[in-house]
Amino acid sequence: MNQPLWGIDLGGTKIEGVILPSLVDPKPILRTRIDTQATKGYQHIVQQIYTLVQQMKDQSGLLPSSIGFGTPGVLDPVLQTMKNCNSTALNGMPLYRDLEAALQLQIVLANDANCFALAETHWGIVKEKAPEARLVFGIIMGTGVGGGIVMEGKIWNGRHGIAGEWGHNFLDDSGGPCYCGKSGCVETILSGPALQRYYKTITGNDLSLKQIVSNYGSGNDVAAKDTIHRLNHFFGKAVSVVTNLLDPDVIVVGGGVGNISTIYSDGLLSLNHFIFNNTVDVPILKPSLGDSAGVFGAAALVA
Ligand SMILES: [Zn+2]
Repeated sequence: MNQPLWGIDLGGTKIEGVILPSLVDPKPILRTRIDTQATKGYQHIVQQIYTLVQQMKDQSGLLPSSIGFGTPGVLDPVLQTMKNCNSTALNGMPLYRDLEAALQLQIVLANDANCFALAETHWGIVKEKAPEARLVFGIIMGTGVGGGIVMEGKIWNGRHGIAGEWGHNFLDDSGGPCYCGKSGCVETILSGPALQRYYKTITGNDLSLKQIVSNYGSGNDVAAKDTIHRLNHFFGKAVSVVTNLLDPDVIVVGGGVGNISTIYSDGLLSLNHFIFNNTVDVPILKPSLGDSAGVFGAAALVA
């Protein structure tokens, strides 16, 4: 069946919508966006989504039978409410039920790391470099650290809806407290803000991640060197846990921290050290879809 695929990516500042012809033809029929205006509260966000869908119908002349949604957190499969959203207005809210009621059609929700992994699998770097992959692990290392598992082309959600959430695996006490209520999570060490915080504890200086990486490159900032070595070391250690458990065919690394080239060299050596195998064979790839991965992955949910 070649029903067009409707996807919506619910972001903190923008809600983006796309209509794609099909899984084999991802050239958008329509792509549009609206401000989230999250400060106006949960009901307003639902209203904005409704408005966006009306606009998409008007502009395309099409009617969706279902829509995939990428969300910042996850839907708790038992409670049927949202959790772990950095857009906090959504937490504790029955987003699935409310969207279904507002839009009067079938909807599918997935968190943005899952959408990222799904889009890169079907249309991005996995399709290009590892098309035979059956198990894909998609990583986002940016402001937070998340992940998604795509098995045989489909998202694996898990019983609690948290499958792939390696960002809150325990990594090391030195990471300190995490917003999730635990301590020493992967996110407290490998996220962009965590690396900046580490640099600041050594130097007292607030530097952007970009600046830290640039100082590391210039070679005479010892604290920058320390920070990047810490990233490489713990990247390998954290990914080894996932690799020992899932043994994915390919790993895709997105987010700002994923752009730091040393994780693909020294980080890989660290992985080699910690993995339960003599060598690391799994390709670790940079994504190819950029900002589009979220909304494209949302559309892939209904394929
Ligand atoms: Zn945590």
